[in-house]
Formats: sequence, structure tokens, C-alpha cells
Amino acid sequence: MKTLCLSTDLQERIRAHCVASYPHEACGLLLGQGGNITHMVPSPNLSDQPAKNFDIDPALIIQHQKAGREGCERIVGHYHSHPDGQAMPSARDQAQNYDKDLIWVIVQVTDGVAQDIKAFATAPQSGQLTAILLNR
Ligand SMILES: [Zn+2]
Repeated sequence: MKTLCLSTDLQERIRAHCVASYPHEACGLLLGQGGNITHMVPSPNLSDQPAKNFDIDPALIIQHQKAGREGCERIVGHYHSHPDGQAMPSARDQAQNYDKDLIWVIVQVTDGVAQDIKAFATAPQSGQLTAILLNR
């Protein structure tokens, strides 16, 4: 996949969640088909260090995996924010990239204001999260 289709409306809703969670990281699921995102589902950040890390609610993941099997929109990726960081996968993000099929969206929030939003997918050769184009 070279391009992620993520509507301006969805991008704004993701940014708004990330701003509301500042200075903690926000996180949530991205539902859709292939490279076309149709829904964003905000999750509580269950990390015990929410300013530095994120953990999506596993109950939310199970709920949407089940719904996907029953014909609803599938989980195709997730988003999280980097408060006062870069919109780039951290070393921890790369280490926690367990499901190589998922798309990652990362939002930079600086001083409580949303900045860059970028999308990443796992490169087949390196196994590393690599930037993909974001349709705006
Ligand atoms: Zn991160």
C-alpha cells in the first residue's frame, strides 16, 4: 500500500482527540477496508505511563475484531499521539509493531496544539514502520 485514504473530517477528529488528551498520549482504532479508513474509535490510554506510552483498551480491540468477522468494518490500523515529540515511530513503536498488517497513524502535538499527522506501514523487506502517503 502506498496511499492511505483518511478524510479531512476523520483527520480533524483524530487531531481533536489527541489535543484533548494532551499532555498524555491519545490512542484509538482505525476501521475500514484496506487503505481506506472509514471510522475512528477513540480508546482510553491504559498505559501506566500515558505521557510516554499508549495501550489501547483490549476489550475495544476484541469488540471490533468480533464485529469485523460479522461483516462490519474491520480494524485496519490505529492512531496515537506524540505529545511534544515528532510524528515518527519511536523505538518503542517499532519494537511493539506486532501485527505487520496494521497501519499506524501518528499525530504530533506540541504545546497542546496538533501539528503533523503522518501514516506508516510495515515495509516488507525491513519489517520497519515506514511512511506512506496520506490522502488529504
Ligand atoms: Zn509512539
